[in-house]
Amino acid sequence: MQYRVLGNTGIKVSRLCFGALTVGPLQSNLSITEGARVIRKALEAGVNFIDTAELYGTYSYIREALRGYDRDVAVVSKCYAHTYQGMRESVEKALKALGRDYIDVFLLHEQESMLTIKGHWEAIEYLLEAKSRGTVRAIGVSTHNVEGVLGAADFPEIDVIHPLINVAGVGIQGGTADDMLQAIRYAFSAGKGIYAMKALGGGNLLNRSEEAFEYIMSIPELASVAVGMSTVDEVEYNTRLFSGSRVPQSLKSVVARQPRRLYIENWCLGCGECVGKCSSGALSLTGGKAVVDGALCTLCGYCGPVCREFCIKII
Ligand code: SF4
Ligand code: SF4
Repeated sequence: MQYRVLGNTGIKVSRLCFGALTVGPLQSNLSITEGARVIRKALEAGVNFIDTAELYGTYSYIREALRGYDRDVAVVSKCYAHTYQGMRESVEKALKALGRDYIDVFLLHEQESMLTIKGHWEAIEYLLEAKSRGTVRAIGVSTHNVEGVLGAADFPEIDVIHPLINVAGVGIQGGTADDMLQAIRYAFSAGKGIYAMKALGGGNLLNRSEEAFEYIMSIPELASVAVGMSTVDEVEYNTRLFSGSRVPQSLKSVVARQPRRLYIENWCLGCGECVGKCSSGALSLTGGKAVVDGALCTLCGYCGPVCREFCIKII
């Protein structure tokens, strides 16, 4: 495994980051024991960087995976809080649920531009205080939006940016993959630590995975790439790929995963809550029910939690 320092944070991370969304209730919904086993497998293969979020519901998986593990692991979390008190509650919740004294990186989840970052300034003020106390080591934003990267780059308070980028530009808001790449280069030159998400377009690029990984690993400004994994075979495949080891054909075949899709149960009430949550524009209401456009859906899983009827699944 190769390691890079995340911008000016001093935090040394593996180039492969374990994206913990996939093991949890929004996606594979593995048992805590099984999810922790998959994460632990990645740690034992050299991964030392885990990405999660309050929304993902995976703190207990990570805590279990780290139980008795004696090497340093950097954990990132993120939340939507925009107030001082809201961010305080989110950070305290993460510390307690993860059983840690500090979180390595805490992000404002899904920022769109400099304006939305300014709108979260109270939350940033809490994070700055937490950083001065040592309960948070670095502060940042996650974003699907080119303007989100450019906006964050200009704030000296922001240490880390977690942008969406992939070879086909799937899910990028406000520009193309090239536009996002330019924004990443700008942010990198401003000293930001950058680690990418959705290299496989939320599963839409699985059939081009080698090309997609080759593209993402060729971007020198990226310290790391978060990749969701939910089986030990995927862990072995990805850790081999990111370590520059040969991936045997037999393993490639095993990991030739079934295509996933978003599924909306027929008891959908047509309330439209999920439609507003989807920043990819993949959901709409037709005939009083939510319907998904599979070409636009990145399988991010963000719409599921807003459905009070539990209609939305990724299967
Ligand atoms: S439909 Fe749901 S899973 Fe698909 S992109 Fe939109 S929010 Fe994400
Ligand atoms: S939030 Fe749930 S019930 Fe409401 S439209 Fe979406 S899928 Fe249907």
